[in-house]
Amino acid sequence: MELINNASLKPFVTFGVEATCDHLYRVDEIDELRLAAQYLDSPLVLGGGSNILPIGNINKSVLRLELKGFEIVKEEGPDVLVKVAAGEVWHEVVMWAVNQGLGGIENLSLIPGTIGASPIQNIGAYGVELVSVFESLEAIEIGTGQVKEFLKAECKFGYRDSIFKNEVRGRYIITAVTLRLKRDYVVNTTYGSIQDVLQHKGITHPTIRDVSNAVIEIRQSKLPDPKVIGNAGSFFKNPMIHSDHFDSIKKTYLDLPGYPDPSGHTKIPAGWLIEKAGWKGKRMGDVGSYDKQSLVLVNYGNASGEEIWELAQKIIASVQGLFDITLHPEVNLWK
Ligand code: FAD
Ligand code: NAP
Repeated sequence: MELINNASLKPFVTFGVEATCDHLYRVDEIDELRLAAQYLDSPLVLGGGSNILPIGNINKSVLRLELKGFEIVKEEGPDVLVKVAAGEVWHEVVMWAVNQGLGGIENLSLIPGTIGASPIQNIGAYGVELVSVFESLEAIEIGTGQVKEFLKAECKFGYRDSIFKNEVRGRYIITAVTLRLKRDYVVNTTYGSIQDVLQHKGITHPTIRDVSNAVIEIRQSKLPDPKVIGNAGSFFKNPMIHSDHFDSIKKTYLDLPGYPDPSGHTKIPAGWLIEKAGWKGKRMGDVGSYDKQSLVLVNYGNASGEEIWELAQKIIASVQGLFDITLHPEVNLWK
């Protein structure tokens, strides 16, 4: 374990904003983590820092999870259960699965960050969410250091949501995640952009690798690389609104996109709302809304967390004023 006092978080968060924390512990041993969990006062947990916006300096200890390891724990017919330590990079897990011919996570290619953070918001992209391959996770309770296993139902996964963002927020450190991957997986190509890429390449019977390659290609063409332009992906969640509300907006905006769900609600792409409110590609100083995907707020260089949050609040207010829809941040705000 390495301890850095008064550490800068800038190299550890993909927004690339300057902020310090009182103590940064880089932990690669589970026993040290258990001790730290017992004795530190309400530490914050850091993975790859790709879904965090620090706003000002953080007067707390931060535990950066660097636990490594992969293990196939069981094979059940065509199913393969793989246990992965929290500090492994998510995309490397996806590439490992693709290389083994194991399906289920190829649509989640190139999502930044660690596998340990993947259950927190039930990561999702291109019609697939973590929940569809999730088996269980192991976590250490902050305060007691006790180990607890969470099965799928206990995690209460929802749309970019889980128990870890609600009832037990800040109480557990996830140390390992077990996935159920499949040798006989039928690929999911429901999202139009995946179909477009496959069609363009003349692929009619896509493999797991074809889908992974298509997702990587789309993402590289549309999203800013955090190593070049600071960002944390989608800043806001896509709002779910009641269908009556959707119909009333549609009267004015005939091009309003919407994806109905069985509960009678309709998911609206937050990026469309932000674009209609005039923010797409707008830059103020070093902050802005990305020109190829307005839902991504960016740091062009030396923006502070406060400046990014200020822009987010302006966007929330104008979308609220125009559509009577409240946008909620998907990014975790550290204050
Ligand atoms: P961090 O940012 O380090 O942490 C995120 C939250 O999880 C924090 O609250 C932190 O305290 C907590 N946390 C982290 N690790 C642990 C742990 N081991 N135990 C307990 N709590 C923990 N997300 C999607 O869902 N779909 C996408 O398609 C997607 N695309 C993205 C594209 C870009 C360019 C970027 C920058 C981000 C994108 N994201 C996406 C968001 C982000 O990559 C995911 O949320 C990812 O799971 C965050 O992982 P991380 O390790 O970086 O977590
Ligand atoms: P897109 O394909 O331009 O679509 C815009 C929005 O419409 C998406 O947010 C998506 O919702 C929704 N959508 C599109 N087709 C859909 C379908 N067939 N069924 C249901 N909903 C549909 O989106 P994009 O911005 O390029 O992103 C592509 C995918 O990567 C999306 O799944 C997105 O969530 C994911 N992504 C996430 C982040 C992040 O930080 N969270 C960043 C980049 C990309 P969903 O978002 O619910 O899928």
